[in-house]
Amino acid sequence: MLRVDDNFDGGNIEVIDISLEKVSLNIKKDSKSDEKQWFYFRATGIKNIRCNFEIANASTVSYPEAWPTCSIVASYDRKSWFRVPTSYNGETLSFNLQAERDIAYFALFEPYSYERHLDLISWSLTQDNCTLLSYCETLEQNQIELLQIGTRSNDKKNIWIIARQHPAETMAEWFIEGLLKKILSGTSLQNKALLDAATFYIVPSMNPDGAIAGNLRTNGAGIDLNRSWLNPNKLTAPESHFVFEQMKSIGVDLFLDIHGDEDIPYAFIAGSEGNPSYTKELALLDTFFRAQFNKATPDFCVENGYKANLPGAGDLRIACNQVGEYFNCLSLTIEMPFTDNKYQPNKIEGWNAQRSMALGAVVLTPIRNILPKLTKTKNSDCTQIN
Ligand code: ZN
Repeated sequence: MLRVDDNFDGGNIEVIDISLEKVSLNIKKDSKSDEKQWFYFRATGIKNIRCNFEIANASTVSYPEAWPTCSIVASYDRKSWFRVPTSYNGETLSFNLQAERDIAYFALFEPYSYERHLDLISWSLTQDNCTLLSYCETLEQNQIELLQIGTRSNDKKNIWIIARQHPAETMAEWFIEGLLKKILSGTSLQNKALLDAATFYIVPSMNPDGAIAGNLRTNGAGIDLNRSWLNPNKLTAPESHFVFEQMKSIGVDLFLDIHGDEDIPYAFIAGSEGNPSYTKELALLDTFFRAQFNKATPDFCVENGYKANLPGAGDLRIACNQVGEYFNCLSLTIEMPFTDNKYQPNKIEGWNAQRSMALGAVVLTPIRNILPKLTKTKNSDCTQIN
């Protein structure tokens, strides 16, 4: 007998109708908001059946424009994920699989579980150079960890990197895992040079409530955290409130906010050129960083994914803009694709966890190269906080 369910961490699907020929499904909206697009479910009892799945409410999701080029992922063991041919007729999203095993999982992108998140935090803290600087509790009593890599000094630049404000953008936490593994394992001269010149402050997952609930964009109060930074509300957006207050105590000389974009088929950067206080110097730094990133890997593209904001028109509710404006520092959003990099396509796996981790490791190269060009911001000091 065929069964479909989402009763696990990050799961999201609603069964409308089920038969051996066709399974009709809906994507659930976020737990406290109307956003929806993420799905992740398992199908049991499908071995040797050509099972056709149909997402009936696909046209009503937050970004339906992403569907025509979308290719969803499946897995038998939740470790190895492969692309499944997917089609969209303007109303429903369809895919099918001739399953080789009794159970198969399907998702919009390779998931990143809360268990894996806990493993990543614990592993990081067993490595030299990594400490838990601070943490905050979310509305659902989960925890956000702020990791400090390296020692603090007035001579060093403060680099802040946060990920997964939008919980469905799991590639962002894969990116952080790649970065942490690269900077914490190994005693390369490059790592030493980096940590002699900079201290890293890293939040691997900004939105565990949304991630566990299987949300697309919002937290436990239905807030899109990346629209909450103008004046983060401690009660409804404790996640961004916590991180922004920590930033004010420590200072920020470079900020990277890691995301995924459902529609645009390559990894790119969105800058903060619309900020009221944006300068020519910041524009030059932005261009330099992108060029160095692209030189380091063909999986990062210098092509602009979003139309640049007009001067002064930047939305200061967005983390990248608010942090750049407040600290007068280089502040960038890094976006990765859900399906593939159209310039370096891989038909079987597309863009996946491995490539996200590789991008996270290689981002240390443009960071290292830009460090001498960054100036310390006015709020940057080495006062220890509790
Ligand atoms: Zn995002």
